[in-house]
Amino acid sequence: MAADTLSLSDPYTVATSYWHRLDDGRIQCDVCPRACKLREGQRGLCFVRGRVDDQVVLASYGRSSGFCIDPIEKKPLNHFLPGSSVLSFGTAGCNLACRFCQNWDISKSREIDTLSSAASPSILAETAERLGCRSIAFTYNDPVIFMEYAMDVADACRERGIKAVAVSAGYMKPAPRAEFYRHMDAANIDLKAFTESFYQKITFSKLPVVLETLEYLRDTDVWFEITTLLIPGHNDSDAEITDECEWLVSHVGPDVPLHFTAFHPDFKMRDVPHTPPETLSRARRIAREHGLRYVYTGNVHDPAGQTTTCPGCDRPVIVRDWYVISDYRLTDDGRCDHCGTSLPGRYDGPVGSWGARRVPVRLGM
Ligand code: SF4
Repeated sequence: MAADTLSLSDPYTVATSYWHRLDDGRIQCDVCPRACKLREGQRGLCFVRGRVDDQVVLASYGRSSGFCIDPIEKKPLNHFLPGSSVLSFGTAGCNLACRFCQNWDISKSREIDTLSSAASPSILAETAERLGCRSIAFTYNDPVIFMEYAMDVADACRERGIKAVAVSAGYMKPAPRAEFYRHMDAANIDLKAFTESFYQKITFSKLPVVLETLEYLRDTDVWFEITTLLIPGHNDSDAEITDECEWLVSHVGPDVPLHFTAFHPDFKMRDVPHTPPETLSRARRIAREHGLRYVYTGNVHDPAGQTTTCPGCDRPVIVRDWYVISDYRLTDDGRCDHCGTSLPGRYDGPVGSWGARRVPVRLGM
C-alpha cells in the first residue's frame, strides 16, 4: 500500500460493507458518526478507510504498528483475568482528533512506515498463544476504524481460547457497533469528559454517541470498564466529575469500574501541566460518594486508589500498586475468600503473575 493511493490489488486493502451512495455521487462511510462523504480516491478522516473502485475499503488489514505484551491492568482492566498478560497491538489512524492524544505518533500517522509489521489474524492468534497471553487487545489507536481486521483477529483468537479486548473511544454507529462487539469479550471505553463543549472543541466528536455506546454495552455480555483521563482545567471540576458519576450510576450501574488517569502534556496540549495526584484522589472520592463501588486511580503510585474492596465485608481483595498485584483474596471464580461475595468481572482460575512488565514482541520470534 502506498501512503497516498488506494488500491484493492494491495494485499492489505479489503472491501467493507458499512457505506451507502449519496445522490450527489459521493459515497458515505457509515462506520462512525463522522460520516465521511468520499469521492473516488479520497480517504476519510481516519485515513485508513477510503473510496476506491466505487466502494469504501480498509487499507490497513493485516498490518500493525507494533506489538507488546502488557499486564491486562494497563488497558486498564482491573476486573478481567487479573494479573494476566495481554498481547497489545494497534494499526495507524484514528476517527477522533483529540488535542491531547497520548499516542499521536500512531493515531495521526500518514506514514506507511508506521505499519511496519505484517500480521494475519492466524499469526496473531498463534503468537498470543505461544507467548502465554490470555487475551489480545486492540489498543494504541481505536479499533473502530479497522473493525474488519479486529473482528477476524478476535475470531482466530477465540478458536484458541484467547479473549479479545477493545480499547476504544466508543465513537461508532449502532449497526457496526453491534457487529463489532459480538466478536469482543471485554472493552475499556474512554469517557473523555462530561461536557459537550469538551467533546466538540477538544476531541472533535460528540458526547451523546459515547454515552449510547456505554448503554449499549450495559445490555451485552461484554465486560467493560471506563477510563477518564483528567486534564487540569479542562475536565476536572467537582461539578463535571459529579455529573459523570451520577450519570454512570443511574445509566450503567454502580458496579462498572471507573479509572481516573493522569494526563501528561502531549501533542497539541503541551501547555497544560501534568495531573496532580490529588486531583485523581479527589475524583475518586467524589465517585465513591456518588455510589460507584470500583473507582481507581491510574498512571500513579497509589495503592489505596488501586485496591479492590469486597462489597460484602469491605476487606481488600485485590491490592495493587500501579500494575503489580501484591495481595489477592479471590477464589478462582471471583468470590471473596472471606465472605463469599461475588465480585463483578470475569475470573477464570488463579490470579496471573505477569506483573508490571512490558515486553516488545517481534512476530516470528
Ligand atoms: S470510520 Fe473513518 S472513513 Fe468512516 S466515517 Fe469514521 S472517520 Fe470517516
